[in-house]
This record gives sequence, structure tokens and C-alpha cells, in this order.
Amino acid sequence: MSQPVQTASPDLSQRSIAYFSMEIALSPALPTYSGGLGVLAGDTLRSAADTAAPMVAVSLVHRRGYFRQHLDAAGQQTETDVPWSPEETLPGANQTVIIHMNGRDVIVRAWRFDVVGVTGHIIPVFLLDTDVDGNDSWDRHLTDYLYGGDTFYRLCQETILGLGGIHLLHALGCRPDVHHMNEGHAALLSIGLLEERLGNLNGRPVSTASDADFDFVRQQSVFTTHTPVPAGHDQFGRDQMYQVLGHDRASTIERSGALHNGLFNMTYLALRFSRFVNGVAMQHGKVSQHMFPGYAVHSITNGVHAATWLSTPFQALFDHEIPSWRTDNQYLRSVYGITPQQIQETHRIGKQALFDVVQQRTGQQFDPNILTLGFARRVATYKRATLLFSDPARLTAIAEKMGGLQILFAGKAHPADQGGKALIREVFEAAAHLNSSALKIIYLENYDWALGQQLTQGVDVWINTPQRPYEASGTSGMKAALNGVPSLSTLDGWWIEGCAENVTGWAIDDHETIAEEAASLYSKLESAIAPLYKDQTAWARVQQHCIAMNGTFFNTHRMLAQYIGNAYLPPAEVGDLSQLEEFTQQPTNPTVSEPAMA
Ligand SMILES: *Cc1c(COP(=O)(O)O)cnc(C)c1O
Repeated sequence: MSQPVQTASPDLSQRSIAYFSMEIALSPALPTYSGGLGVLAGDTLRSAADTAAPMVAVSLVHRRGYFRQHLDAAGQQTETDVPWSPEETLPGANQTVIIHMNGRDVIVRAWRFDVVGVTGHIIPVFLLDTDVDGNDSWDRHLTDYLYGGDTFYRLCQETILGLGGIHLLHALGCRPDVHHMNEGHAALLSIGLLEERLGNLNGRPVSTASDADFDFVRQQSVFTTHTPVPAGHDQFGRDQMYQVLGHDRASTIERSGALHNGLFNMTYLALRFSRFVNGVAMQHGKVSQHMFPGYAVHSITNGVHAATWLSTPFQALFDHEIPSWRTDNQYLRSVYGITPQQIQETHRIGKQALFDVVQQRTGQQFDPNILTLGFARRVATYKRATLLFSDPARLTAIAEKMGGLQILFAGKAHPADQGGKALIREVFEAAAHLNSSALKIIYLENYDWALGQQLTQGVDVWINTPQRPYEASGTSGMKAALNGVPSLSTLDGWWIEGCAENVTGWAIDDHETIAEEAASLYSKLESAIAPLYKDQTAWARVQQHCIAMNGTFFNTHRMLAQYIGNAYLPPAEVGDLSQLEEFTQQPTNPTVSEPAMA
């Protein structure tokens, strides 16, 4: 990996926003992320660096990483660790804190990774590490595996993230005004803030915290929830909570109302201690509002960091034609001032680069003149990776009629997810049956940052087939759009906001059965996409619309500006409509009748 810039840490006392996330994709070479959540966190920090936001971030070091995926000829997944040593590449924070958990002290130290923006502004990220001399040998491995181990291991990790993170920031002289919990994993930061408040004043146990103390913490915290799948919300047994956190903290959590159905629920803890809560797309905010009726849930739609996900040729084109796009992505709208042909030629370079990768990895030759579909994501059942193969005969017929069709797949299943692993084998099986001179299907191993870039920069159409309403947002289609790649997707997550039919892509219609939805997918492919692809002039205009309409909006520069304006530093109560209603319902002169409508 490239050496990070070794600079002095910025003045932490000036950093007013702290961003907490269990995973952050910091560099393609570091295994500190698993998928969408970590990529979003990294993209958020990269936009914060580019736009000079006063931010600092906290995560865990994950010394053994998220896994590397291996697939055998039948699509059977096996995993290996991705070990790395922060001591070889990162400066230490020269500061440790001690967290009392599981009835003993755990020493927590941190490594500093600098996210450096386009003008040199730095967002320091503190990666917490318990592999420290003096720690119990089991505790030394607590920051090794991202999403590894059992619920006990997970709760210990979340304790280190939340409590360790707050105490470390304070020890470093950093006292943020706002703490952003990126998903419920970070919710224990609220207890860390309570401990700082009570401990700093007069060393009282947190169980003595008053409602005013609770509210003090609440006023400093913001929470983003990321999944409408109930199983995606971390829950722990009550006994486990008492065991790991001890009676003082655990009884305080119980009193706060964070137990749900008898279980310690991280989402409820986060809700209880946040003054602003949001989902990650407009629909997801609404779905989450239904799940948590006692709380006001807003929406801020996700984005991606444009400079990270644009292909090198597109970056060069925009540097030349659209000055300032790197600091302000809204300038990308002026892609309408570039000819569609130039966009198309630039995309073609990305397509060839992808096919070179396919050739190197598999020895197979893909044809750059043939329409190529991409489908890559975490293999979760609701994403329905095999929907495309519901009617193999029809898919083959379409490919033959079009004069050829190429499909690239990629995605990891969580090591414990047997259903997900079975889906990968099913895709392999379908591919083996369907591969012919007209239809080529390849599953690429080890979907990660680099492969994500190559795929979203190189295919012609990005496919997404989640079961509604389980896709909170989805971001890979946004990466594709930036690179002039339209989506064919279920109307779920971000695509409800991003789909302009025949302009930025196509919607798979909503139906009762998988067979009907697959039929909609096939008919869009056959009747809308295939004829358009034959007309390369019209196709080039679609590519241009994707960047101008969706690239300009679905980026983390815009997203972060919304977090700053709506969540971190909200304007005073100007948006309180109930007051407005009260005002308009009390006419000052009751004798004046309703004005006639103009
Ligand atoms: C962007 C990205 C994701 C998230 O994409 P979704 O559309 O949300 O599935 C996951 N993994 C990698 C490697 C990515 O680059």
C-alpha cells in the first residue's frame, strides 16, 4: 500500500463533529470494511476532507480484516484472513485509555489514519486497538475481526468502539459538539458521554444520571440507521449486557429504555440518545419511521465520493472540462457541455480496462462491442442474485436476438451465511448451463473496492434486483451512474429517486411473484435496452444524463452538506410547522371573511 502522509495531527480541540463507524473503507489496501456501510463511511470522510469539514472519526483497527473470498469451480466459497500491521504504516496516537469491561481493565490504544482532501485538509481517523502488552490474551484479539465471532465478541467490540472511542477522543483533547453514530454499532458512545459528564464533574456512577444528563447527551448525538431488515439490528441478551458492561452501565441502559422485547437493542439505545435520526434514502426514512413510531425519523439519501469512483479517464476529462468539480460536485451538471460522443469514448476506455481484468483473472475474452451487464453486491438473500436466471430459456433467446450478451457477477457471502453461499453456487450452476456463443456469464472472485471500481466503470448496465423494501439505499448504482452507466433495477432504495425511465435507466416493475418481476426485467432488456444499445448515439445521451442528473446529486459532497445543514448544525426552529399552523388559525381580524380564491 502507499505510505500515508505522515503529518502532525490537526488541532483536535477545533474538531466539532465526531463520526463513529464500526467499519470504514480507508484505502483499497486496508481490510477495514466489509461492504456498503464501510464504503459509505469512507466516502463521507473523503468528502469531509475535500470540503474542509471540522470532523474526526473513530473505528476499530481490524488487524485480521474482513476476509478474502475464494471460489472453487462449483462456486463453493472459502475464506482467508487479511492480516495487516498498523505499526508498519500508521502513526500511533501516543495515548491510551482504560475501559473496564467483563470485570477487568482493557487498555485501548489507537492508530491514526489521515484522510487527506483535495486541498490538503485532514480528517484524522482513530483506529482503536486492544492488542497491547498488559491486556488479557483474549482481550488482545478483540479488535482483530470485522463482524467475526459470536454476539459476546460483538458486544465487546461495540463497547470498545463506543466507550473507548469517546474516552480516547477526550484524552486527546477533542470535545466534539456532535457525535454521529453511523449505524447502531456505535450507540454505546452515549454511555461514554454520560461517563465523561458525570466523571468529569464529580466522579459519580452513571446510574445516578438524571433526565437532564440524559438530555445533555441526547443534544450532542445524531444517529443514522441503515437497514429495514429487523435481523440487521444488533441485539444482545440482558445477561450478556450486564456481564460485559457491568451493573452500573447496564442498569442505566435498562432505565433509558434501550431494551426491546427483553433484549438489549443497539438501535433503541441510539434512538434514545439522539436528537436527530435518519434513514439513508427517502423511502428508507419512511420505512424506518414505521419501525420506530415513537421517534421522528428523517431521511438523508446516501451518495458516493465522486473522485474515488470515477474512472481515471473520466477524472482527466472533467479536470480538463469542468474545473472545480473535485471540491464542488454540483459542477458535474455541466457535463451537458461535453459532447455525448466524448462521454461514450471515455466510458469505452473503462470498458476495455474491465475486460483486461476479466482476461487476466479468468483467461476469458469479452467483446467490447457487446452489451455487458454487471451485478455485484454482498450476497444476501433479499438481493436475489439469481432473479436474472428465473427463465433461462428466455434469457438465452434475448441474448441470441441481440447478437450477444455478457454478464459479470461478483459478491461475498458472510462466512456464516449458508443461504448466501448457496446462492453463489446457484449462479455458478446457472452460468455453467447457460454459457454459449451468445451468452457469456462470469462470476469474479473477491468483490472489493478495486473490483467495485472496475465493474462500475466498465459495464454498460448495472443490474439490481432487491426485494422491496429491503434495500435501504444501495450505492453501487450511484458509482455506475457517475461513470455514465444506467441502472436496470427494482424501484427500491435510492433508485426511486434516481430512475427517470429511458433517461437514466429503467425500473423493474413491482409484482407479487418473482416470476413476474423477472418477466419485467426480461421485457425491459428486450424491448427498451437492446434497441437503445443498437442506436449508439441515443445510448451516449443516456450516458450523459446519468452523470449530469444522478452523478450531480448522488454524491457524498451533497450528502454531507445535508448532514451539516439538517443534522449537525440545524437552523433554529424555523421548520416547526405546528407553530405556523397555530399562527394561521388565529386570524387577527375575525370579521374579515375568507378571501376569494384568485
Ligand atoms: C459500493 C460497494 C458496496 C455497496 O454497494 P450496494 O449497491 O449497496 O450493494 C459493497 N461492496 C463494495 C466493495 C462496494 O464498492
